[in-house]
Amino acid sequence: MNELSPDFRMDTAQFDYVRVLYAEEAVNVLAQCGERGVVLAGGQSLIPQMSLRTSQPHVLVDLGQAIDLRAIEARRDRVTIGAMVTHAMIEDGLVPDPVVGMLPYVAHGIAHRGVRNRGTLGGSACWADPCADWPTALIALDAIITCLSPEGERRIPMTRFYPDAFTTALQPAEIATAIEIPRSSKQARWGYYKVTRTVSESADAIAAVVHDPERGVSRVVLGGLTCPPVVLGAVSEEIRERPPMPDAIRLETCTEMLSEIPALTDVNLHNYAFALSRALRTAFAG
Ligand SMILES: Cc1cc2nc3c(=O)[nH]c(=O)nc-3n(C[C@H](O)[C@H](O)[C@H](O)COP(=O)(O)OP(=O)(O)OC[C@H]3O[C@@H](n4cnc5c(N)ncnc54)[C@H](O)[C@@H]3O)c2cc1C
Repeated sequence: MNELSPDFRMDTAQFDYVRVLYAEEAVNVLAQCGERGVVLAGGQSLIPQMSLRTSQPHVLVDLGQAIDLRAIEARRDRVTIGAMVTHAMIEDGLVPDPVVGMLPYVAHGIAHRGVRNRGTLGGSACWADPCADWPTALIALDAIITCLSPEGERRIPMTRFYPDAFTTALQPAEIATAIEIPRSSKQARWGYYKVTRTVSESADAIAAVVHDPERGVSRVVLGGLTCPPVVLGAVSEEIRERPPMPDAIRLETCTEMLSEIPALTDVNLHNYAFALSRALRTAFAG
């Protein structure tokens, strides 16, 4: 029988495993192991990377039992969702929805139920895949991520959390503990559309639209590019001033709106114009 070349091995390199019960404990362990430590959330992105050996942590710090990271707090003006809350919990409505249906809708569109059962909001935000759903949705929602390190807690707007693709503003020994989403008003409208070939494949294009005149927030965000999600500034401003009539939302108009994004291939331009038109229609029709 042929032996597999080491390049095709699907087993992880050796690592130490630490299970923590609180976020603070995780941060302390990370501070002790320096760059060699990595936190494990739902494992849906990290474990495949470890199997491929593109990620080889020496110490794996498992957040699975950290109860404080599953806390959910609903306030009058915002809902705070623990980083370890799963996509499935959001899909099932176990999290009070601050934006009339948007969170369960986005969660439902992530992969299949097996992935949603284990994958977490914080894990998705911190993996920083530009093709993932939550980074785009959370930027559109004006969310804030709370982070904890040995120096204490800090809050970072999601619009400033991604300096690059697969890169976050987290410092060594710092973890995300929760994500805060402002409550929208009753007049708020939203639309979200993802172009993808199959449920398990990366998105080819994502468009998210949030328009809440009472809060003075209008935001159009595109995801699925090779860079972090992009806020379409001029389009967002235009929508805030003059919400589009559903009849006026055409593919050609949406193609023009994409002039803010340079160097899109024809196929990408079409995918994005399509995603944007669908998201705008959902937000403004009816
Ligand atoms: C087949 C398949 C299909 C998928 N399809 C989609 C899809 O359609 N849309 C989509 O959005 N996603 C998709 N995903 C990804 C999925 O949503 C993952 O759940 C998500 O990317 C990572 O979340 P996790 O909890 O599994 O994190 P993990 O895999 O455990 O961790 C991911 C990374 O984030 C870091 N991390 C995790 N939690 C924290 C924290 N609290 N603080 C700091 N760092 C942290 C880890 O160290 C690691 O580097 C898919 C995954 C699979 C396997």
